[in-house]
Amino acid sequence: MPVTIRAMARSYVHEARKRVGRRRERIRPVIERLAREHDAVIALRFRDELELLVSVMLSAQTTDVAVNRVTKRLFLKYRRPEDYLAVPPEELEADIRPTGTYRQKARNLRRAMKVLIEEFDGHLPTRVDDLVRLPGVGRKTANVVASERGATQGIVVDTHVRRLSQRLGFTRQHDPVKIERDLQRLVPKEDWARFPHLLIWHGRRVCIARAPRCEVCVLNDLCPSSRV
Ligand code: SF4
Repeated sequence: MPVTIRAMARSYVHEARKRVGRRRERIRPVIERLAREHDAVIALRFRDELELLVSVMLSAQTTDVAVNRVTKRLFLKYRRPEDYLAVPPEELEADIRPTGTYRQKARNLRRAMKVLIEEFDGHLPTRVDDLVRLPGVGRKTANVVASERGATQGIVVDTHVRRLSQRLGFTRQHDPVKIERDLQRLVPKEDWARFPHLLIWHGRRVCIARAPRCEVCVLNDLCPSSRV
């Protein structure tokens, strides 16, 4: 009977999963090894909760380095939510332009500041369900902001967390909400805040999207996608 390519692939994946063991048994050693390799810290620079929110909103589709370069000057000029509404929209657009998609980001920032002032007395809420009421703030941004403020309520799923969770066999899902649900069942709650940081740094340095460096990866004996 001819063996189809799909059947071969299925058997390869099955074999790889058997080799590395169950994900519940692998999750702790994965976290411990990554914690020895990487600092579980965010690369964005901010001094208070408002700067944190703005930095995370600006970081969509660009690098943290680019955001830090812009916010260094931006935060000298815009200190309170009202400051973002006090200038003409074009001025704010020009001030954040190097972060890309600057018109949309400026629009979201202004609308978010308005809601912050009108509904939250100018203070950033703590609950993720309240944070997502701010225009331009999705679940990922809300989770990042809540975690950085010590009020972790979920697991941040960005492009690195999604890719590494799939490669490590922690999820078969593609939708970020479903991936987060899988990870919440798997990752010990006390690690929810640091887990995404560890995967993000590992994804940037080792488990790179196009060319994972499995030969130098500290997880290669725990990873069903390892090429070594
Ligand atoms: S072994 Fe390879 S695929 Fe698995 S986490 Fe490491 S770099 Fe990524």
